[in-house]
Amino acid sequence: RELSKELGVSLVTVVKAYKELEKNNFTTSIQGKGTFINIEETATKETKKEEPPFNWQLSIQDYLPRAQFSRFHYVSDEIQLSSSMIDPGLLPNRYLEQEIHKMLLENPRILSQYSEVQGDLKLREAMSQYLKQFEIPTTPDNLLITNGSQQGLDLVARTFVGPGDVVVMESPTYPGAIDIFRGRGATIITVPVDGDGMKVDILQNLCDKYKPKIIYTIPTFQNPTGAVMTQKRRRKLLNIAKSIQSIIVEDDPWSEIYFDKKPPAPIKSMDYYGHVIYLKGLSKTLAPSCRIGILSASGSVFNRLLAAKSNADLGSPLLTQKSLLPFITSNKMIDHLKKLRTALKLRRDMAIDLLLKYAPEEISWMIPNGGLNIWISLPVWIDTNQLLIEARRNHVTFLPGSACYPVEQEKYHLRLSFSYMSEQQLQLGIRTMCNIFNAEITS
Ligand code: PMP
Repeated sequence: RELSKELGVSLVTVVKAYKELEKNNFTTSIQGKGTFINIEETATKETKKEEPPFNWQLSIQDYLPRAQFSRFHYVSDEIQLSSSMIDPGLLPNRYLEQEIHKMLLENPRILSQYSEVQGDLKLREAMSQYLKQFEIPTTPDNLLITNGSQQGLDLVARTFVGPGDVVVMESPTYPGAIDIFRGRGATIITVPVDGDGMKVDILQNLCDKYKPKIIYTIPTFQNPTGAVMTQKRRRKLLNIAKSIQSIIVEDDPWSEIYFDKKPPAPIKSMDYYGHVIYLKGLSKTLAPSCRIGILSASGSVFNRLLAAKSNADLGSPLLTQKSLLPFITSNKMIDHLKKLRTALKLRRDMAIDLLLKYAPEEISWMIPNGGLNIWISLPVWIDTNQLLIEARRNHVTFLPGSACYPVEQEKYHLRLSFSYMSEQQLQLGIRTMCNIFNAEITS
């Protein structure tokens, strides 16, 4: 009442202001005395604001600590077991080259045209058809062509996430997504992953408490663990998101690459109310250099993402969109995926056999039923960041597990990708890694 008089504002406004402060933990209530504003807590927030808006001393590693691992370019004398990419020998490069040639001969004006912001209609039609194999009910109108699913993630983050907004991520997860949400100043809350994907039971309590805006998941052949989320957990996750009006971002780069049995349909296939933004990149199956990804969403969520895409780049390059079109619309894509599954299953088996034969018994791994990676756990006292130094001395690279943890890092895991190197190099790389494991454990 006193404050209301002193400031000349209504009592209702004062009560509202107290409630707001209370919500943000800026108040302390003492029984019998009343509610007080925490001066110190307010002060820390204010001093933070006084920091210079830009610190010129910071390097990219300070902002994006995981960027250092994104070495996607080829170094000739290294056996890169760090890259979640496909061996160029398994991709239809020659066919695509011919198609690009033909297309430019027939229609050179393509170089002087913009694409529609949403993406070339013919490609959206083709992708809408393609997504039917995953039981995703979509039309070309609900699809946005992005520059890889990386851009899809970035558009989601810049549209829906601001400083302090809560984002739920799996732990461990894809390093590139951690950097994106961190870059937006999000408060990241993690949920562990086991062999059946994100532990959704834990998520329920966290969501009740923190009301996240975004729940980011890779339910199929999770990066880095290779885990597949069960159908039951998928349904539960969707129900949780619905109950708290949160958006699920379902990142699905490689569900086509399964080895033993087909994985469950994406969460998006059950999404009747528009709670899921679905991302499917074509880098892992077709041509990373074309940077083509597809985003499927609906309603106002979709419209806002479309606006963000327009702001970002006015639309993806028409040239690369048109380049992939003939391959996707022909039977070639289906045949190619069959071949890819067979070739990568062989490499997965080869890698697992070598680990069984040569790795010390102290280490363990999950056998992936699809995707490109094997997640390896060493004894807890081994720091895989240090192991990487030794591996590089032996011309082998891998992804240290610490890069995949958004919050508390576990340093004793690592990710080996079996898909990028030729069979011969893969064998040599895994043998070298086993020697390094043995030397480390016996030292
Ligand atoms: N999501 C996941 C899980 C990934 O592993 C990757 C690339 N490694 C991406 C997104 C980005 O892929 P792209 O932009 O090439 O589609």
